[in-house]
Amino acid sequence: MNPLDLLQKRSDGALSRKFSRELLIPLNEREQEILSYFKHNDQTDWEDWRWQLRNRIRTRDVLAPMVPLTEQEEKGLEEGAIGKLTMSIPPYFASLIDPDNPKCPIRLQSIPQGHELTTSKEEMRDPCGEDKHSPVHGLVHRYPDRVLFLVNEMCAMYCRYCTRSRMVGDGERTLSTETYKAAFDYIRAHKEIRDVLISGGDPLTLSDKVLEYIIQNLKSIDHVEFVRIGTRIPVTLPQRVTPELVDMLKNYSPIWMSIHFNHPSEITDRVKAACNLIADSGIPMGSQTVLLKDVNDDPAVMKSLMHELLKIRVRPYYIYQCDPIVGSKHFRTPVSTGLRIMEQLRGHTTGYAVPTYVIDGPGGGGKIPISPEYIVERKKDRYVLRNYSGETFEYFDPQIDE
Ligand code: SF4
Repeated sequence: MNPLDLLQKRSDGALSRKFSRELLIPLNEREQEILSYFKHNDQTDWEDWRWQLRNRIRTRDVLAPMVPLTEQEEKGLEEGAIGKLTMSIPPYFASLIDPDNPKCPIRLQSIPQGHELTTSKEEMRDPCGEDKHSPVHGLVHRYPDRVLFLVNEMCAMYCRYCTRSRMVGDGERTLSTETYKAAFDYIRAHKEIRDVLISGGDPLTLSDKVLEYIIQNLKSIDHVEFVRIGTRIPVTLPQRVTPELVDMLKNYSPIWMSIHFNHPSEITDRVKAACNLIADSGIPMGSQTVLLKDVNDDPAVMKSLMHELLKIRVRPYYIYQCDPIVGSKHFRTPVSTGLRIMEQLRGHTTGYAVPTYVIDGPGGGGKIPISPEYIVERKKDRYVLRNYSGETFEYFDPQIDE
């Protein structure tokens, strides 16, 4: 269906809100090409997040005509990497893959590689030790005043380095109402919990109704001051960010959204439109970025990502060292790479564009901030400090009178 026909459909109440925003973005050539591989293929389908979810690319045979596969990818697809973590790529996200570039950052994140079949000695199934901090199914209570609520096991796209690959993808289960209720009861009984991070899987793969059920229950607990949603959907499936979704979310303000962005090429016109809609609804957004070899381990790429994020009103929040999940060695970089990136950000760009670089203490230590050293020397009553360009300064430290 061409965009004009769709515009006419805007007079239809149900369709008008659904398509009004997306219609401003015509399909590009690659999107049209990817869409042509599917049976029912007009723009109505492309803009429908449920169609995108139903038609996620999950097998080698569907993917191969769209992207000439490398030897590593063939190996990953044929030798069982998808048995460890299933492949799933929404047609929209597949349209971002550069078929001619084996190092395309989008394909590295989404197509399995043979490397995933190699396990290194430091790798773990649950590197963040979430399971041992789980008092009831679906909840992780590691820090005193906040909990992580894993509300489902499904994502639109399975990131090949996923920390939760032990639980996502396989069966794509949603938790039962009884499990949700047990989690609400736990939170209600623990008055110290003031902040709930809803994650999964990806909570935005749930319907608006189920999501609202979860948020409403959490918000009905007096001591829960606010709720955060951790998601990668605005990046991998921006069509999911509908006016109906944000209308529902803004009823439960304050809600914050932590979005997982890894590369500037993820910030397309559709993603910009989705983030605009979220920001205009008064929902503050932060980004979480995983440091990945060949994807974003270059200071220039990382700086460009941070700048693009600020332009769409997403505040860079964390850069994570990639967790030592099983089969992740090809993604992990030395800590010195992360420090070099931080060194190139701090002082060299807007402070808002400088996230915190963290390593999750393996086995359940929580997030530990890592920063380049700016204290050159510590003396009795003064510090010798260096600034971003290497100049040193003495700061006299006020002494406390005994
Ligand atoms: S969206 Fe998050 S939970 Fe889902 S596969 Fe990616 S990193 Fe894992």
